[in-house]
Amino acid sequence: MIAEPPVPCDGAGPHYPGEIRKYPLGDGANLLLCMFCWADENKYRYEQATINPDTGLHRTRPLHDEWPQQNWRDGELVGG
Ligand SMILES: [Zn+2]
Repeated sequence: MIAEPPVPCDGAGPHYPGEIRKYPLGDGANLLLCMFCWADENKYRYEQATINPDTGLHRTRPLHDEWPQQNWRDGELVGG
């Protein structure tokens, strides 16, 4: 089997030098992320769900349905 070229990560880094997986965004859209950037995306979503960015205060009602986190192991492997 011929090795595929490395798949670039869509995240901001620092990147993990390994697998790249599809982070589903809904409507068939995906981010291609390494394990570190995947964790960063989940952290961002958690913060968006729990903190109002306009006030910097915790939300009375967290928006976890609007900002769902994804499990790395559920992500479709793209390369790495
Ligand atoms: Zn990355």
